[in-house]
Amino acid sequence: MSLDQLINKPKRALPSFHTILAVDDKLDLLSSIKSLLEVYGYRVLTASSGRDAITMIDTHPIDTIVLDLKMPDLNGHQVMDFLKEKHPDIPVIIVSGETGFDSVTKALKAGAYDFIRKPYVAEELVNTIKHAIKNKVLSQENHSMHEQVKHSESLHRFMVNSSPDIIYMLDAHGHFTYINDSVQQLLNIPKQALMGQHFSALLSEEEIKQHPFALNERRAGDRKTQNQEIQLRRRVSYESSAQTGTLSIPFEVSSMGIYEQDVVEGKSQYKGTYGIARDITARKQAESVIRFQAYHDLLTGLPNRSLLKDRLKLAISQAKRSNEKVVFMFLDLDRFKIVNDTLGHTIGDQLLQAVARRLQSCIREGDTLSRFGGDEFALLLPRIKCQDDATAIAEKIISILNEPFHIEGHELYLSASIGISLYPDSGENMDVLIQHADIAMYDIKGSGKNGFMFFTEDMNAEYSKRLSLEQDLRAALDKDQFEVLYQPQVNAITGQLSGLEALLRWNHPEHGTLPPKDFIAIAEETGCIISIGERVLEKVCTDLRRWNSDEARVAINFSLIQVAHPAFLNLILDNINLFGLDPKQIEIEITENVFVSDHKDIIEKLKTLSEHGIHITIDDFGTGYSSLSYLHQFPITTLKMDRSFINEIDEHPKEACIVSAIISMAKGLNLNLVAEGVETESQFHYLKNLGCHGMQGHLFSEAITSDAAHKIVKNPIIETPKETTPILTDQM
Ligand code: C2E
Ligand code: MG
Ligand code: MG
Repeated sequence: MSLDQLINKPKRALPSFHTILAVDDKLDLLSSIKSLLEVYGYRVLTASSGRDAITMIDTHPIDTIVLDLKMPDLNGHQVMDFLKEKHPDIPVIIVSGETGFDSVTKALKAGAYDFIRKPYVAEELVNTIKHAIKNKVLSQENHSMHEQVKHSESLHRFMVNSSPDIIYMLDAHGHFTYINDSVQQLLNIPKQALMGQHFSALLSEEEIKQHPFALNERRAGDRKTQNQEIQLRRRVSYESSAQTGTLSIPFEVSSMGIYEQDVVEGKSQYKGTYGIARDITARKQAESVIRFQAYHDLLTGLPNRSLLKDRLKLAISQAKRSNEKVVFMFLDLDRFKIVNDTLGHTIGDQLLQAVARRLQSCIREGDTLSRFGGDEFALLLPRIKCQDDATAIAEKIISILNEPFHIEGHELYLSASIGISLYPDSGENMDVLIQHADIAMYDIKGSGKNGFMFFTEDMNAEYSKRLSLEQDLRAALDKDQFEVLYQPQVNAITGQLSGLEALLRWNHPEHGTLPPKDFIAIAEETGCIISIGERVLEKVCTDLRRWNSDEARVAINFSLIQVAHPAFLNLILDNINLFGLDPKQIEIEITENVFVSDHKDIIEKLKTLSEHGIHITIDDFGTGYSSLSYLHQFPITTLKMDRSFINEIDEHPKEACIVSAIISMAKGLNLNLVAEGVETESQFHYLKNLGCHGMQGHLFSEAITSDAAHKIVKNPIIETPKETTPILTDQM
């Protein structure tokens, strides 16, 4: 049966009136039959020969034929033969004078409905026609009903077999009596192989134990099985057998008992089970993806904040019982924003993934590493014996993150600041532990980044101060609370002023004069550093203009964020133009970390500035983590040796050999060298004797106001210690 036939119901075609064909070569008889039957409401057609009759039958719908047997051309038997072949459903009533046994038998055998002898009795003829027609209608109705049943059965079979679900019936003993075609596709089992089998053939032993009645439910009504999840066994392939291996596939089963009323006893009797099993693999997969997404960060695949909090809560309650410690670390990547801003989000994302992989290599089984958001990660270490264990892990993380990352041809350097809180020492509950780790993290960020710090109570005060500073910082520019001081640099041989360094101060209305360490980190994080830098540059240019000396050169400090900013280059060049300065009067001081990531656009900017005659200085030289190869790539004029090395001269003279190494290197690379933080005469002589003649430090002058600097610019001689016996040591 075609799909079209299935969908469209067969039509019942029952005539509204009945047509009778009267066939006789006797015309008077024909007309009398016609008249008689028309009185009874029939439509009557007539044919006076067998041939005419066949033509009529072929061209008109006829319900009954009244047929004479003896006719000159085709006789009644021949008409009957034709009818038997072509229209077997039209009842034929023979009205004939030929009453011989043979003739009658032959006609009846050929399918005649009845035989009436001529001369006919009107009432007999009419009654016979009535019966014949009634009979025909009944048989037509019967046929039509049969067709409808057949159709409906095909339709249902089609619907059941086309269902995406397994539809089955079991007998009272749990054997399959029906199962639809879907089973073949869903479980790779031939349908015939299951018929008569016990339903347990589809379940593993474990599953039978778990859900013994899911498939052969006896209950009906509200208590029947509805949407019960079970695992059915699916063969590996249609060709394989149950022995060669099966997979467990999740299905959702709804089943109910089938009952039949016992006529004798009047009780209903359990006959079997009817059920539907739906493959829910796709839904389960979707659910698990959603579940994963709800508790994981999609970029790194790490647990997210919610999952971490769950685990932290659990770890705290376990530690409470077992008297152990829990460590919570909050890790923030230093200056990650610059990677995103200068190299784009795709590289930023890859870097985060690489960081996640490295961090994962530092943790133990049972620890949780989570991405808390942005460039923040959190680490939960349950069951820690002592603080030293946490220290070891934090040290490992710091050092592993300091190794360069290689992403799409870029060599990127990162550092991280880690704040650590301990249960129960730093806090008794989850929120406090998280908050305290956060505070400790900000503390390390404020004191130079790239390290870790355990939370201590006094950090709380610092933190509140930091929060209020953050708010104040936004208004400080408007209120013009920033001041630029200048620290002179001296040539140790001539005692001449060789330059000035601009050092920023914030004249805070409540906290007094704040040094940069108190607010630069906050300004960087909040983005205020950009506007602050513009203000510093403007003030320096104004002062240089006012001092009106072509010789004066001022070094201005810029952090990586400032250099990476798209407007940096124009900011410098525009101001130099605007104030009519010589580019040589401006020096850019940047720390080594500007070079630790190979940002091509930063290299280009510095090259352009250098081409304009602007000096580029590496500040705090020797404290960075980069390879020194950048010294070749960049147009650097000066190295400023970090204060920590100068301190060593007095404190650990034996270890001060690094100073002489830096001095030799600067000479070898033909770079100017300035030692910063020179505080004592012995440092002065030591450096001078080794050939480091550029110096800056409290020994000569602290940072001074613009007016005081003006005086020095006008009279550029600075007092330096008098010559003494050189303290040359043999470790040099
Ligand atoms: P820096 O560029 O290395 O500046 C030298 C710092 O050492 C200054 O601290 C200076 O006051 C201090 N110093 C100089 N001589 C001595 C000495 O003999 N002994 C000791 N103990 N310290 C000395 P300051 O002014 O607190 O600045 C700290 C840092 O803040 C600077 O380090 C610089 O990196 C940054 N900074 C200063 N001004 C700005 C600015 O306008 N923008 C940016 N982005 N950073 C700035
Ligand atoms: Mg500096
Ligand atoms: Mg410095």
